[in-house]
Amino acid sequence: MTAENTEPARPVALISGGSRGIGRATALRLAEDGYDISFCFRGDDAAAALLEKELAAAGARCLARRVDVSDAEEVRDWVARTEDGFGPVAVAVTSAGITRDKPLLMMSDAEWHDVVATNLDGAYHVCRAVVFPMLKRRRGSIVTVSSVSGVQGNAGQTNYAASKAGIIALTRSLAKEVGRRGIRVNSVAPGLIDTDMSAVLDDAVKNQVSERTALGRAGLAAEVADAVAYLASDRASYITGAVLPVDGGL
Ligand code: NDP
Repeated sequence: MTAENTEPARPVALISGGSRGIGRATALRLAEDGYDISFCFRGDDAAAALLEKELAAAGARCLARRVDVSDAEEVRDWVARTEDGFGPVAVAVTSAGITRDKPLLMMSDAEWHDVVATNLDGAYHVCRAVVFPMLKRRRGSIVTVSSVSGVQGNAGQTNYAASKAGIIALTRSLAKEVGRRGIRVNSVAPGLIDTDMSAVLDDAVKNQVSERTALGRAGLAAEVADAVAYLASDRASYITGAVLPVDGGL
């Protein structure tokens, strides 16, 4: 699943959960900014193939790979193939995520563990796999995708909110570990964003959340992607360990 061009090497961005929603918008935004893109997805081959075409049209080399981010070995292999094929990963974005919303009393152990394994373990696996080569080069930027739920908590989302709070703690702690070695680690904390993930919510719930924002509306995936691209870039060279809300003023 590789499209090659003959341009001189571009920096490489690696994005988990890149095939849809916020990850997809980020892939397109970073391709516009001049990056080659390696993205992974869980199972939706059609969405991945569509994005591959769009990235090629934007002039980016693209590696698309089916990877379950909850599997450390699969993530390590994806990162290694990316570096072998395209060169060093300059930017890593952890966007793969799922919800299994339910009140805690009704939640199955599997619903808890699936969410934590995908969201939190998944972010850890990506960070763990990219950080060593970044440390060797003394350069790199990691942006995790957390959530306002991880900052404020949210009824019906104990599993999800806990996984996102974990991502925030991972981000801040890793930033402190690797900052002196030239690596920045930041997070975006989106509010309600119009993607497949939020499409399953009742309209009434979505309207309620939108009403609670200062801007009075849900956000777009591209608006989160702009924030990710900023934090990833050298324009944010003195920002690390930050959690940037992208929530319309919720
Ligand atoms: P989508 O459901 O639109 O996209 C999720 C993406 O993650 C898909 O590419 C999917 O691949 C991939 N994915 C899911 N599970 C795995 C897995 N185990 N391994 C690899 N890839 C996986 O979600 P969003 O774009 O809305 O969400 C992106 C991130 O933003 C998530 O971390 C989410 O928690 C966070 N977020 C979203 C908000 C929102 O309102 N939308 C609000 C706050 C945070 P495939 O299609 O193949 O399954």
